Amino acid sequence: MSRRRGTWVRGAALLVAAAAGCTAQDPQPQSQPEPAATAGFMMRYEEPATASDRAGRDVLRDGGTAERALAELNALLDLPHPVAVVARSCGGEGTGYDPATHRIELCYDDLAEEREPFARVGDPRPDERLAEVVRETVHHEAGHAVLDALRLPAEGDRAEEDAADGFARLMLLRGGPEGEAALLTAARSYDLAAAADPVPDPEDEHAPPADRAEAHRCAVLGEAPDRHQDLATPARAHCPATWSRTRTAWTRNLTPLLRP
Ligand SMILES: [Zn+2]
Repeated sequence: MSRRRGTWVRGAALLVAAAAGCTAQDPQPQSQPEPAATAGFMMRYEEPATASDRAGRDVLRDGGTAERALAELNALLDLPHPVAVVARSCGGEGTGYDPATHRIELCYDDLAEEREPFARVGDPRPDERLAEVVRETVHHEAGHAVLDALRLPAEGDRAEEDAADGFARLMLLRGGPEGEAALLTAARSYDLAAAADPVPDPEDEHAPPADRAEAHRCAVLGEAPDRHQDLATPARAHCPATWSRTRTAWTRNLTPLLRP
């Protein structure tokens, strides 16, 4: 299961209280040291543990989706320390960020799980949908790393998760129509998760999937109302103002990390 789907929280509950948010904590010592790096987000791939994970690794590596997302981040931000982004077989632990080691783990085993709902509903391009979801996931986890680098206090785990989602929206919506499409695909992914499991996990620190989907759509509408008139409903009349506040707050918070 994927941490972004909620079960990661049970693992995260083992963490010390100071470890904020969507954290990946491997109780075992890391099998290999992180590569020496100067700063920024650094991608590397571990050897897959299973044939299924190997397929996930190939999709992730060959598509270059994560690398492109990290290049966007590194072009925008000057982090005070390196953040290792490690693609690996997680055995169900789930994708997440570990503030103790400044490490993001992207799980091969999550990929098949996230592709499957699109294939099941007959989407003609499930690999493209998966790539868009991966892009949103990378930016969400990067949001945790950025919050950590900024040492921004989060008022509770849910607030940190919501802030990481806001960062993902900010990064994707900087990308114009392509980023808007990716965010809407991520919203669709949450819709499919909500349909498959209608009762939200009460232990999940994230907002319920249906709420995350709606917040993504609200941001897309708020960012580009002319391009997304199909999303305009009376209930979303607040979205331009709501998204503007989120974007302004995140942009202000990022100031110390922005490249000149
Ligand atoms: Zn998270």
